[in-house]
Amino acid sequence: MTLQLFDSYSRTLRNFEPLEGNRVRIYACGPTVYDYAHIGNLRTYLFEDVLRRTLEFYGYEVYHVVNITDVGHLTSDADTGEDKIEKGSRRTGKSAWEIAEIYTEAFQSDIRALNILEPHVWCRATDHIKEQIDYIKVIEEKGFTYKTTDGIYFDTSNLQDYGYLARLDKAGLSAGERVDIGEKNSPTDFALWKFSPPDKNRQMEWKSPWGTGFPGWHIECSAMSAKYLGPTFDIHCGGKDHIPVHHTNEIAQCSVCHGTNPANFWMHGYFLETDQEKMAKSSGEFLRLKTLMDRGIDPLAFRYLCLTANYRSDLKFRWESLISSSKALDRLRNLYYSWSDGGDPDQLFIENFTKKICNDLNTTEALALIWEFCRSDITDAVKKATLQHCDAVLGLSLDAWEPPVAIEIPDRIKQLVDERQKAREQKDWSIADRIRDDLLKLGYSIEDTAQGPQVNQIDPTIS
Ligand code: AMP
Ligand code: ZN
Repeated sequence: MTLQLFDSYSRTLRNFEPLEGNRVRIYACGPTVYDYAHIGNLRTYLFEDVLRRTLEFYGYEVYHVVNITDVGHLTSDADTGEDKIEKGSRRTGKSAWEIAEIYTEAFQSDIRALNILEPHVWCRATDHIKEQIDYIKVIEEKGFTYKTTDGIYFDTSNLQDYGYLARLDKAGLSAGERVDIGEKNSPTDFALWKFSPPDKNRQMEWKSPWGTGFPGWHIECSAMSAKYLGPTFDIHCGGKDHIPVHHTNEIAQCSVCHGTNPANFWMHGYFLETDQEKMAKSSGEFLRLKTLMDRGIDPLAFRYLCLTANYRSDLKFRWESLISSSKALDRLRNLYYSWSDGGDPDQLFIENFTKKICNDLNTTEALALIWEFCRSDITDAVKKATLQHCDAVLGLSLDAWEPPVAIEIPDRIKQLVDERQKAREQKDWSIADRIRDDLLKLGYSIEDTAQGPQVNQIDPTIS
């Protein structure tokens, strides 16, 4: 069966073949660690996880690199504004280095909770300053840079194909440009190296042949992907917002430095959106995985929700859909648990399932197929062995799940649980959350399952 993936560069569905043997090299743009990841960011990493699991299911050996942006990502994509990490430092009173550490760990913990496979390499921008400087030197030698008072910029006017990925209308952009482009020659030019302000030191700054400062955001991905995967590799991924600026600029840098587009396939995850614009980290108020967990939602129910939509369509976040996903996952777990072991996978089903995921990771149809199969009269043991096989792609950890153990709950606690349930039904989340916090202090946590709230006893001294 042929694996077909949508390549954003050619804007076509193409047959996938590794560039070299059986090995697939993937680079995914990682988080900017100035705050917690929001569930929108996590949707992108879930899409990339399904991609990796599909490639492995298909029999390829995947080598997966994810960067951590801990310097250089400015609050505006137009190379103006403050470094997001330094801004995070001001917000929290912690150093920029501490900020990066705290949010990197929080991100990695979210990744684990979602059963996302760890990349083979996590690489931090601040650990690769020399590689970035060397990369800029090559771009400079090839005549694609100029200097302004605040940094070294990439000269896009020199590059024929600039903006092809996003099908940018360069002439139109320049003509219609109204935003302040500072000393840049063109709105599409971008910073490779920014100088520290003349009057004060930054927390994160390094010496360079051009002056003390820090790398621009795009150069880290070009330098680190080349270091870990070589100048050309199989797949480069990220969220769709990276198409017009970040990935466009990565391609520009690589094409000057190595003479090629770095990736054979460019793949982009579409957005998870909320009605209330709650998905922008920069707005300061957003939904985190912890927000869902605090409301008793299993992180894998969020994973299930993301599987219900294809990665190339935007997904509106609604609590109702999340709760339905949570119930569906619970049903699947209970069924799976009730089935006996010792069967052989149903090869015909696996072939049909593979067809769905090989069609550009069509998880929506793959899940529908799974439910049809669960309802069929095939023997339970065969169902279990088959689903176990398919779960390598879905990553729902079906094998690890066990039904919660019932415990004796005091009447006072039962009463609070009922009150919380009523508040939830009336969508009064603040009351529900307050009761949950009271229960935690009393030593009980709640998980909301298809059978209703499940109460667990915890040690209240551990927070
Ligand atoms: P950032 O931490 O802002 O650099 O973003 C991390 C990843 O999340 C990038 O691949 C973004 O493209 C992606 N992303 C940002 N917002 C969303 C969203 N609302 N839905 C899905 N992915 C997103
Ligand atoms: Zn990147």
